[in-house]
Amino acid sequence: MQAYFLNILPCVILLTIVVMLVNVALAEILHRIILKDFYKNGSSQEASQKMKYLGYAYIFVTLVLMVVVGYYLIPLLAEIISRFIAILVPFLYILVIRVGSSVIFSRTYKVLHVHNETIKEIVWEELRNLLFFLIPIFIMSYVVAFFAYFTSRTGIEISIWLFGLFVVLNMFATHMPNPYIYKFLLRAVPIKDDSAKQIIKDTFEKHDMKKIPVYQFPFKKDAIAFVVGFTRIFMSDYLITVLLKEELEAIIVHEIAHVKNYHLWKEVFINLIFSFAAITLIYGMEIIEYRFDFYVPELLNIVTGFFPLLLNGLFVSPMVSRIHERQADEYVLKSGIEPETLILALEKIISSDDRERLMSNLEEKFSTHPSLENRIKYINEFAKSMVK
Ligand SMILES: [Zn+2]
Repeated sequence: MQAYFLNILPCVILLTIVVMLVNVALAEILHRIILKDFYKNGSSQEASQKMKYLGYAYIFVTLVLMVVVGYYLIPLLAEIISRFIAILVPFLYILVIRVGSSVIFSRTYKVLHVHNETIKEIVWEELRNLLFFLIPIFIMSYVVAFFAYFTSRTGIEISIWLFGLFVVLNMFATHMPNPYIYKFLLRAVPIKDDSAKQIIKDTFEKHDMKKIPVYQFPFKKDAIAFVVGFTRIFMSDYLITVLLKEELEAIIVHEIAHVKNYHLWKEVFINLIFSFAAITLIYGMEIIEYRFDFYVPELLNIVTGFFPLLLNGLFVSPMVSRIHERQADEYVLKSGIEPETLILALEKIISSDDRERLMSNLEEKFSTHPSLENRIKYINEFAKSMVK
């Protein structure tokens, strides 16, 4: 058996290289389409907008090609080397393609004057963003593979339950190491600035919050604050320097609201439901096949199984997250902070990232945050409704 796999290996590797080249060539084509558009219309904003939409399509195509490559390469490598090495395939694929295409797109952005970063900076940024995204999935796939290997000898019914239990544990397990991954990748340290420390301490006391770790990380250009690992707050250096005392307080209260209302737990719970739906579809299909003795093509089975995950990833989770953002803003206003203060703080955060300011209605549907415009409108309306 192994001899057969070894024989087709060169062919499969050649095919993989061809698919990768096609994938990168598509980035180059996209680059040329955008530049042509830019030289014709002369509007860098219009071209950037088009770049953004085509960029989404490009990511989609990359994912499809990744599945194609994984579909024939993973079983093959699993047979020849080991399944635990074979799992690396999709991750390496994404890594190589994203880094390769970010070099190509950096030329596009340079012409559009969106940025003036060097290629090295862009590649680093892309790598860092990818690692944030890939490491948790990577851990999860490894545990899933290990589990599948472990239960491959037990009957299918038992493994469904074990697998379900496992997904639950795993989802929490990937959230637990997140703060450490973030801390490491962002080179974060506990808050250094004395006055910021004092504001955090006072705000926590005011909101009856037990002490939770707050970290700062060296970002000089973006003002960012977020919660990970359920109860850990991260803030960028820039946020701490650029916000006034009461604006910083407003942002801390916003993050406190996320922690106090268990927003991350709720988001994990929703992810769980959709994961279960995916498992049920995949395993359910197999049971139906077995009972009624008909054959569903494996690829179709996988696609149907992933449908709930896609639905969740594209629509449901972003929507829930936007609702949570609103609730956190409401909490800030209810705590007595002036709407103007919150708006000023948000404006400072978002002006460092004009992506969100320019969000279209369609994009907002896919985004985890509402556009600033809608957010300000909502904050003002809510503040008015409180006065009544
Ligand atoms: Zn938030």
